[in-house]
Amino acid sequence: MLNLVIFGPPGAGKGTQSQKLIDKYQLVHISTGDLFRAHIQEQTGLGKKVSQLIADGQLVPDAITIAMLEEEADKNKDARGFIFDGFPRTVPQAEALDAFLKSKGTAITGVIALDVDQEELSRRIAERKKLTNRVDDDADKLKKRIDEYFNKTIHVLPYYEAQGKLTRVNGIGDIDQIFAELTAVIDSY
Ligand code: AMP
Repeated sequence: MLNLVIFGPPGAGKGTQSQKLIDKYQLVHISTGDLFRAHIQEQTGLGKKVSQLIADGQLVPDAITIAMLEEEADKNKDARGFIFDGFPRTVPQAEALDAFLKSKGTAITGVIALDVDQEELSRRIAERKKLTNRVDDDADKLKKRIDEYFNKTIHVLPYYEAQGKLTRVNGIGDIDQIFAELTAVIDSY
């Protein structure tokens, strides 16, 4: 299996590049943010539980997020591989993902981190806000999400670096050029 983590702060281009990667490599895309938004839209019990946290730009507790991710992965038993987008965001999530994949006889193949500076992130999210109207793209919520990224999520990088699985790619520039860099990394696995 080809199991990828696409990693980066809010607005780094994870969603955009994931779409292109799933087309090319026929992977199942699991975006925990998309899954939470679907739960909120459908007003499920889980959706009701997490909607305020998400609207405020805070991370959802690990136990809830991990259970949702495992359930989604289990729905796709025939997958050729997965692309995990927006997960893991904490070290306990990364550990849980390793244990889960191990129990299925597989593992993370590689982690690609999209590097984008703060100024460019703010510019992109302002643009996205016009298109999607995500409440958590408002300036104060966005600040909280970026804080969550730098306080909690960033620690996931050394976790994978220690496993020799981390590659950083410059996430600024032409979408197709960045995609070409990602595919060069993946094709080298
Ligand atoms: P995203 O679309 O990936 O930016 O996620 C939107 C929001 O969903 C985040 O700001 C968090 O509130 C929540 N979320 C998504 N993925 C996770 C995760 N792996 N752990 C905790 N919260 C998450």
